[in-house]
Parts: sequence; C-alpha cells; structure tokens
Amino acid sequence: MIFKNDINYRKQSLIKLMICVELHEQEIIQALFDDFKKPAFESVATETSYILAELKYTIKNIHNWAKPQLVFPSIFNFPSTDYIYQEPYGKVLIIAPWNYPYQLALSPLIAAVAAGNQVVLKPSELTPNTSRIISKIISETFDTNHVTCIEGGVDVAQELLTQRWDYIFFTGSVPVGKIVAKAAATHLTPVTLELGGKGANIVFEDAPLDQAVEGIINGIFFNQGHVCCAGSRLLLQENIHDEFLSKLQKRMSKIRLGDPLDKNTDIGAINSAAQLAKIHELSSSGQAEGADIWSAPCQIPNKGFWFAPTIFTGVTQAHRIAREEIFGPVLSVLTFRTPQEAIEKANNTPFGLSAGVWSDKGSRILWAGNHLKAGVIWANTFNKFDPASPFGGYKESGWGREGGRHGLGAYIKGAKK
Ligand code: NAD
Repeated sequence: MIFKNDINYRKQSLIKLMICVELHEQEIIQALFDDFKKPAFESVATETSYILAELKYTIKNIHNWAKPQLVFPSIFNFPSTDYIYQEPYGKVLIIAPWNYPYQLALSPLIAAVAAGNQVVLKPSELTPNTSRIISKIISETFDTNHVTCIEGGVDVAQELLTQRWDYIFFTGSVPVGKIVAKAAATHLTPVTLELGGKGANIVFEDAPLDQAVEGIINGIFFNQGHVCCAGSRLLLQENIHDEFLSKLQKRMSKIRLGDPLDKNTDIGAINSAAQLAKIHELSSSGQAEGADIWSAPCQIPNKGFWFAPTIFTGVTQAHRIAREEIFGPVLSVLTFRTPQEAIEKANNTPFGLSAGVWSDKGSRILWAGNHLKAGVIWANTFNKFDPASPFGGYKESGWGREGGRHGLGAYIKGAKK
C-alpha cells in the first residue's frame, strides 16, 4: 500500500485528481443542473472552484502536514530526538449528502487521501447524475484498491455501515448521524459527523444595515436555503427591527426565481417534492403557532418545485420554525434588547454549526464570538469559506472538523492537531 507511506505518491494522486476534475468541469455543472436545476454560477462558486481551491491548497501543503513532526523533548530526556508520525487510520468510509453533492463528497476525500488512507465513498442517491460523474472521476484517477466510489441509496449505506472501518466521515442530517454513530460504536470506530444547523445572524443597532441586509439574504436564500450553515434565524436588536425589516423586504422583492441557466436568476428550485413538502409543513406550523408570514412577490415558474423567499416575524423561541432545521428559503425573525439576550437566544438551540455577528464595534464582535457556541462565526459577512479555515459544529451539529490542515488531522492517528 504505497499510499500509506509515500507522501509523493499521494501528492501525485491529488494532482491527477485535480487534472481530472478540471477536465470534467462542464459535465459536473451539467449534472448538477440535471439533478436539481442548480444555477451554473452557483455550481462554479460553491462546487467546482471550491474543490479546485481545496486541491491546490492541499497539494501545496501536503509535505509539511504529513511528514513526521519533530518535537523537542523535555530537559529530562535530553539529548533524545522525538518525532510524531502522521499515521493514517487505514480504511475510511465517507457518506455524503445531496445539497452540495460534489463538494461534500470530494472535500473529505481529498483530506483522507492526503493523509494516506484507503477510501470508499458513498455519494447521495438523490443526485444520481452528479454521483455518476464523481464515480467516473474516481475510477479515472485512482487504483481501485486505493479509492472507490459506490453509488446507491440508504440500503447501500446501511450495508456499508455493518462493515468494520478504521474511520467514518459522515455528512448529513442529525437523525442519520445518530444512526451512523451507533453503527460506528459497534466497532468503536472513530467518526466525524458534519450535521445540520439553525444558524443565528445577530444584527446589533450599530451594524452597517445595508451591508447586513445583503449578508442576511445571502445567508438564508443562497442555494434555496439548502445549506447546513444557513443563517435561518435573524436576531434583530429591538430598536432597529422595523427599519431593518422594511429594508429586507424591499431587497427581497427584487429576488428573481427561475431558470437556472439565466444569469439574472438569483434562486433556483427546491430539490425534490419531499423537501418542498417539509418546507410547507414547517411554514404551516409557523402560521399555526402565531407567527406572521411574508413572502417575496416573486413570479413562480409553473414546472418544478418552488418556494418563494419567506420571512416569519413575531417568532418566539418556542416556535418550531425557531428550533427545527427547515432547509429551505425561510427566515425566522426574533428580537432582543441587550447583547446578553442576543447570545442567550442564539445559543438556545440543540445545534451549533454557524453564527453571524453584524456590528460596527470590533470589541462587540469579539465579545459575541467568545460567547457564541458555534463552530463557524462570521463577522459582518456570511457564508464565506476558505480552505485554510476548518469547518464543523458543536452539539447536535456534529463532531470533528474538516478543511485544510484540520481536515487532514481528522484522518491521522495521533496527529498533532
Ligand atoms: P441524509 O442524512 O438524509 O443523507 C445523507 C447520506 O446518508 C446519504 O448518502 C444517504 O444515502 C445516507 N442515509 C440516509 N438515510 C440513511 C440511513 N437510515 N442509514 C444509513 N445511511 C443513510 O441527509 P441529506 O438529506 O442528504 O442532507 C441534508 C442534511 O445534511 C441537512 O440536515 C444538512 O444540514 C446536513 N448537512 C450538513 C453539512 C455539514 O457540513 N455540517 C453539510 C451539508 C449538509
């Protein structure tokens, strides 16, 4: 198993993968369109160029990250020379979701390969065209005893989970994450769980309001809200509530739903009938529980699954729309009076994946960042990613981190993290 010990071999494999993904970029964009009408600009921004950036960053740093690390012993062991070896786990299983079907399948795979593991990837059955291209890319790049892709649905995932693995990397929903954790416990297999979220965007009275409006829109309506770290709860300081809401509604009125191939389109379709039904069910619960609904006056196309960008005001923490992941273009608006109350409300969730803070005061941003229980916290921006920064959640949003050096560290026994 040359990939276990030879860092150069792994680097060459990743370079081969990079060439292959560049060659197939147009096919990937087409597959994402065929699977769920993903607009081309989004496919490039969040899928293909994301993976290329991750590949370039990993290829550049692989030697530094994967080589044995020299550590200086204490005075008692002088003059010994100590190394920590970055030993791969061995056989890794990766199970991926549908919402970023290409990015979320390949990103953990890049790290697992860089760390020297053998990998089996099971992409999502709900995006079969993308899964087919991923499988093709993998078979064109890797030896089958190094990396393989197994397409299939829940039954295939369940079958794979009955086997013994040295590491499991799962991205998906909280209920399935719990199933994966139980299966892993049978063999005491270590697991990374990248699960759902209910991110809070906190807007303080001193925030740059127009900039915040753009960030809130991007945070919840991008990718139709099918984003684990979406800012699906908006926490507004009480004295700016009316002004901010009117700016938000004005901006939302300009959002265009429709043909993903039209470059003026902002938001595409909901990915499936089942997902649309879930969004309708949770929205109805919001109305039944007494929140006020407002939807942007968009033209809804006749064919496909559509849901207009929607906000709920008058939401309390007891409402289901404030507690459950909707995974659609629905924003729940709550208010707060003091910074302490904002933090308390933002943290009052079983999730802990993402949060956003909007304020002109650096000290307030740092203070909020120290008190928020979320794996990723953005300040005066939202949904920005970089291969150098790790990603992952607290609480029911999961265990472990992915991305860059931290992503590789997950797949290494005894790694310095
Ligand atoms: P899902 O949990 O339904 O499915 C994910 C994967 O698990 C799929 O490959 C599927 O085949 C498999 N699976 C489904 N049911 C299974 C079962 N009973 N046993 C074994 N395997 C099973 O998730 P999804 O609907 O594909 O994705 C949406 C969810 O993923 C959302 O909750 C979202 O927040 C989360 N997500 C998290 C992140 C993150 O990085 N934290 C990223 C993207 C999506």
